[in-house]
Order: sequence, then C-alpha cells, then structure tokens
Amino acid sequence: MKLLKDRIIKDGIVINNEILKVDSFVNHQIDMELLNKVCEYLASKFDKVDKVITIETSGIAFAIGVAFHLNNVPVVFAKKSKSLILNESNAFVSEVKSFTRKINNTIYIDKSYIKENENCLIVDDFLAEGNAALGLIDLCKKAKANIVGFATVIEKEFQGGRKRINEVGVKVEAAAIIKEFINNKVIFAE
Ligand code: 5GP
Repeated sequence: MKLLKDRIIKDGIVINNEILKVDSFVNHQIDMELLNKVCEYLASKFDKVDKVITIETSGIAFAIGVAFHLNNVPVVFAKKSKSLILNESNAFVSEVKSFTRKINNTIYIDKSYIKENENCLIVDDFLAEGNAALGLIDLCKKAKANIVGFATVIEKEFQGGRKRINEVGVKVEAAAIIKEFINNKVIFAE
C-alpha cells in the first residue's frame, strides 16, 4: 500500500537490524486517517468474517479499524495477564514469545468470546517471526473456530513469520512488506 510505505519512509526509524519504530503514527500516537485507509485495505482482502481477534496492546486499534470495515463485527483481544475474572478455569490459554521484549507471555481469551465454527480473522500491527499470530491461531484452534486469515499492518519478510503461518494453513495479508533494512534504510518487497 503506497500510502503506508511512503509514511514508513518519511517517519519510520530503523532502530537496528531487527526493529522498526513507527511510534509517531502506528504504535504510540496513531494517525487515524492512515489507520482508516490501511484497515479498509486489509478488510477488503477477506470476507465471511464473524469476529476479529488480536492481542493487547498495539494490535487493538488496527483490529477495531479492520472490524469497522467488515460490517462492525466484534473484536476480541487476548490479554497478557490473568486476573480473578480471567484465568485458566474459564479461558483459552497459550504461550507467546514477545519479539520486542524477548520474554514469554501467557495469553488468555475468555472461552465465551470465541465459539466453535466462528470465522475468525486475526489482526496485528507487525508480523516478525509470527509468534503472536501463532499464539492467537492456537487459541482459535482450541476454541474449534475457523481461521479466515491473518492481517498485519507491517510485515518484516526476512524474519520468517509468513512462512510459519502459511505452514499451519493460514493465509497472510500485509499492507506493507519490508524485504530488509540496509544501512538503516527500509527496503520494501516488490
Ligand atoms: P512476532 O510475534 O511476529 O515475532 O512479532 C510481532 C509482535 O512483535 C507484534 O505484536 C509487534 O507488537 C511486535 N513487533 C515485532 N517487530 C516489531 C517492530 O519492528 N517494531 C515494533 N514497534 N513492534 C514490533
């Protein structure tokens, strides 16, 4: 998506060989016009979606945007901590390695919010190694839901996430695909 690629070139900051900072328009401050167009684009790639699934925190805004463009289907976000309200007794549970924090998070979704045979679209802000997406896919599989696909705002192709997600039979769509970082510059895939 040209609009997003242009914005990444203008305002994205390559932190090191692995991480792109897009805090000024995606992850901390959010440009709503850009969000709306990116989410409209991602939503157009999928149909027959009953529910959008994401993970807190950065995925939530874009999941809401995609759901808005899919006839306002509900959004469910996996939580990264348990509580008296949400725990192993009433939640689907999985483990996810955090790419940016390098720690493992246990993630939880209340069993009543993903139903058997429901068509779920998974959304996240970034695709790197695919761990967050695979954790959410695992939760959907535990619920016996159908996974329609995985939609991400920015994919870093060189970190292999798409291959791992495709291997479990899930289609991936990205609004911008980064091939590599060279000398702190972003090189996009064709
Ligand atoms: P994965 O689980 O695919 O390895 O990594 C995706 C998750 O890590 C996303 O939820 C995202 O929040 C975070 N992430 C991965 N790469 C980047 C990056 O380059 N920049 C930022 N801001 N977050 C990232």
